[in-house]
Amino acid sequence: MLMTNRLNWANLPLREYFIQNMMTLNMDTPLIESEEPKEQSQPQPQEPIQPPPAPRATRKRAQNFNAFFSALWIAIFVATLFTAWTPNSLFASNLQEQLRLMLTPQAGSNPAATPQPQLRIGIVAGHNGNDSGAVCTDANGKVTVTEADINLKIATLVKDSLVGQGFQVDLLNEFDTRLNGYRAVALVSIHNDSCEYVNDQATGFKVASSMDTRDVNRAQRLTACLTDRYHAATGLTFHAGSITADMREYHAFSEIDPNTITAIIETGFLNLDQNLLTKKTDLVAQGVVNGILCFVKNESVLPTGLPTILP
Ligand SMILES: [Zn+2]
Repeated sequence: MLMTNRLNWANLPLREYFIQNMMTLNMDTPLIESEEPKEQSQPQPQEPIQPPPAPRATRKRAQNFNAFFSALWIAIFVATLFTAWTPNSLFASNLQEQLRLMLTPQAGSNPAATPQPQLRIGIVAGHNGNDSGAVCTDANGKVTVTEADINLKIATLVKDSLVGQGFQVDLLNEFDTRLNGYRAVALVSIHNDSCEYVNDQATGFKVASSMDTRDVNRAQRLTACLTDRYHAATGLTFHAGSITADMREYHAFSEIDPNTITAIIETGFLNLDQNLLTKKTDLVAQGVVNGILCFVKNESVLPTGLPTILP
């Protein structure tokens, strides 16, 4: 669509130019038609001195003009090729520029309606599009809830809340192709821990951020913000003891653009915290939202780079 319009636009002036020149030349030079007797016998008031050309000379002139037209045709053809080619490369660079702008957080189109700039935030609904994650069953072995379902429910609530506050939010799957080179002010992946009963201390949440980022200080700030605000909203404690390599080396950390600040949060244990996670999901989501807002809005947070280890 774009391409067709552009080529028509590029060719139009040339075509007009060609037609105009054809007409001019036809009017000025009586090619083959000049051999006709009536043409020759017609009075030429504009050029009375010039004698009427002999038929042989006229044919020679016609051949010359034919050769001239062939050359003109070739010149126009080549010129058209170049004209068509140049905007093509311009088009490609425009596309690149547009893609760059699309992936760069932009100011909102209506600043009056949206007081804050429309920053892009990514939310990964853990395991979605790939697997179920932890699967909880009742005494009869019937599936009661899956981690993927809870992750999606929380992630959707987080997205809706942030969108409502003027942010541009991408809800992403676990292995979303959009994660490759993903650019945003923050990317937060939401997961939950095991359905199995481990011990009475297997309750609480944990946060890990990517230290592969180009800005470790900001990554630590995102961790501190999520930890502080999530604890404040839910009352859950930070469970540092169960942060695994899967969290610290979360796959998305190495896929996204290194300028994107990212963290993974496990919002609770599906065993002891299941009631909170399933019955008070809005509170859980609010804790994540508050953590993201703390980071994005540069709110003050306890200067603890690493969260306090609690039982
Ligand atoms: Zn998980």
